[in-house]
Amino acid sequence: MLDELTIHELRSLLRAGEISSKEIVAAVYAKIDQVEESLRSYITLCREEAMAEAKRADGMLAKGEASALCGIPLAIKDNLSTAGVPTTCASKLLKDYVPPFDATVVARLRSVGAVMVGKANLDEFGLGSSTENSQVYPTRNPWDLSRVPGGSSGGSAAAVAAGEAICALGSDTGGSIRQPAAFCGVVGLKPTYGLVSRYGLIPAAASMDHVGPITRDVRDAALVLQEIAGWDPKDPTSVKMQVPDYEAALTGDIAGLVIGLPREFINGDDVLDPEVKEAMFGAANVLESLGARVEEISLPHAKYAMATFYILASAEISSSLATFDGVRLGSRAEGAKDTVSMFTKTREQFGQEAKRRILVGTYVLQADNYDTCYLKAQKVRTLIREDLERAFQHCSVILSPTAPTVAFPLGHRLDKPVVMYRSDIYTSIANLAGIPALTVPCGYTSQDLPVGLQLMGKPFDESTVLKVGHAYEGHACLPKRRPKMEVKTNG
Ligand code: GLN
Repeated sequence: MLDELTIHELRSLLRAGEISSKEIVAAVYAKIDQVEESLRSYITLCREEAMAEAKRADGMLAKGEASALCGIPLAIKDNLSTAGVPTTCASKLLKDYVPPFDATVVARLRSVGAVMVGKANLDEFGLGSSTENSQVYPTRNPWDLSRVPGGSSGGSAAAVAAGEAICALGSDTGGSIRQPAAFCGVVGLKPTYGLVSRYGLIPAAASMDHVGPITRDVRDAALVLQEIAGWDPKDPTSVKMQVPDYEAALTGDIAGLVIGLPREFINGDDVLDPEVKEAMFGAANVLESLGARVEEISLPHAKYAMATFYILASAEISSSLATFDGVRLGSRAEGAKDTVSMFTKTREQFGQEAKRRILVGTYVLQADNYDTCYLKAQKVRTLIREDLERAFQHCSVILSPTAPTVAFPLGHRLDKPVVMYRSDIYTSIANLAGIPALTVPCGYTSQDLPVGLQLMGKPFDESTVLKVGHAYEGHACLPKRRPKMEVKTNG
């Protein structure tokens, strides 16, 4: 039972002395023992360390530690460095890597007494939208074990949905927090670029990578963000600013706010599942009933977001993965007879998707293609950002589906990369522009699969995004459902 509660519910029980962190951690591990064999949310579990950390957290609580995260078990995506605990990026290239330091976000959570349950599965280096590109094993969706949990933070989202963690950290380069959160029926937040430190996050595409929370409700997302946000001298892109009180923003009052609905997103009927569209319009009605004004807007360059994202992200990925050569970084392949074959054999260990990105990235950065591909995509990135700036002169938030479909069956898109890439059609725009974006569950399809609603906001205005998400969540009247963790057969 404890494994099904939210951070804020547990916070009250912990503060009242009715339960201990040790009990919560034990409940989470009991759930792991029950379901992990079928879900595979984790690559590494830290059972003993977690019990020791829970004991320490109970001591901190007894002394009045104020953080809501004290004593709360959480999953960490396995591309975030954790001192003394393997950090593999689900890649053969990092199978033996044990970082000597914690990522700043991990250090901050540990310092307030949060308990790390384990390292969550992902698509290799965060490249993918289904967690099937993990070189360890795929994770399954707790709502239907024959389907993907989304990706690339699929392990984090599945763990939170299934009760294998109370909350999790994910990373999001083009949608990797929001899309799996939507597929697993939980909340996910990609913060503004520069708000949360990336120090210790193993990069995919550094100009678009973000770290953020995956939680059971919006209040919990605010609570985790509160702990991880703020300037970090170790991250040169981190912004020095006063971090607002995010929980205080959850007033429920959204009367008079203008919410933009981009026509380019809802008219893409060829990709948008009608049930997802219906759920999103249902959510728009709820927001209007709370006094917000939903208005159609235009983001003329949004249709180029996905292509722009894959050109720029691949360019950056090809450069960040170039260091994995067995000399500078990465597990060196055994048995090579000379230096060149050592490099080759080492880099052959990359999975298919990583290789594809390296090839595409190298292509778009070649002298002959640089102007027509890379530079052009950078210009389109600016146009996309300008579209959003224009929209935000008038709107407080922008509403859209999180993904065009619900969770799809395992294996269905593995040999269709472009169909897989379309999972990010509504999310990658926020990464290109660096703006905050939240996904909140907004219903279920006739097949009982969760649908996510995306709310994007102005840079550093997480408060408004969370406020709208929280107000919606409180009035959505969604049926209370829990994942059944059963395999469904077709038909
Ligand atoms: N699905 C996108 C990709 O494969 C985004 C991944 C991510 O956000 N890490 O690149």
